[in-house]
Amino acid sequence: MKLKNIMLKRIEDAGVQYKLNQKVLSVKSSNNKLLVQVSPTKKESEINYIEADEVFNCTYAMINQIITDSSLDIIPLKHELTEMALVTVPDELKDTGITIMDGPFFSVMPFPARDLHSFSHVRYTPHYEWSDIDKEHYRDAHRHYDEINKRSAYAYMLQDAKRYLPILSECKYEDSIWEVKTILPLSESNDSRPILFKPNYGLKGFHTIMGGKIDNIYDVIEVIKKTGLING
Ligand SMILES: Cc1cc2nc3c(=O)[nH]c(=O)nc-3n(C[C@H](O)[C@H](O)[C@H](O)COP(=O)(O)OP(=O)(O)OC[C@H]3O[C@@H](n4cnc5c(N)ncnc54)[C@H](O)[C@@H]3O)c2cc1C
Repeated sequence: MKLKNIMLKRIEDAGVQYKLNQKVLSVKSSNNKLLVQVSPTKKESEINYIEADEVFNCTYAMINQIITDSSLDIIPLKHELTEMALVTVPDELKDTGITIMDGPFFSVMPFPARDLHSFSHVRYTPHYEWSDIDKEHYRDAHRHYDEINKRSAYAYMLQDAKRYLPILSECKYEDSIWEVKTILPLSESNDSRPILFKPNYGLKGFHTIMGGKIDNIYDVIEVIKKTGLING
């Protein structure tokens, strides 16, 4: 929530215009410009067009939706359906965050937005994975997320984690946050999740960016500056 508010303030200070609850369907070139086809999420039958010189596709798990619907070649990406449990911790852990890292371990962190703790596990947070390989086998990540039956793996997370910290057995399960995590196939082995930047991808002015880590936002500005797409 804090990051969101900081970004909203920066957007407003910079005078950026933005539209929310709009789905980008596709991008095509038209008279040396790019034409972005957009539809309001609550009124899918309505189609609008936005003309632009440069378009940045930063839609994370949905990057290949815009790409395939624009008749461009798919970018190989891997997706994981992930679960982070939300729990009430015993009083002794209320103000504490614990991460055991560098292996198949776990993390229990304060989650102030819900006044709970998140509980994730390297082995059990990812439920299963799939890859974008070609257009024929492409799976729309958001649609898949909406359609599937989500069964919590919290019991397994707890069973393992309490071997290291027995007091965790006093946690009370409240809810789970489900998300699709997107990673580059090449970073499978080391969790480095580097940035993917494809300038002029199939269309002049159409750029695709996949940031595998939140702080990639800083790397991408440097990369874009080097390409000369923006100044300053
Ligand atoms: C479970 C999980 C744990 C993670 N843990 C960490 C971590 O510990 N540290 C870390 O640095 N990173 C972590 N990440 C990765 C981090 O969340 C991402 O790198 C980051 O959110 C990417 O930012 P983004 O702005 O590129 O994409 P997002 O934040 O995913 O934003 C993409 C936006 O595009 C919108 N969108 C999609 N399709 C369309 C469309 N067709 N039209 C219009 N809008 C569209 C989506 O609704 C979304 O709002 C984690 C990710 C997951 C899923």
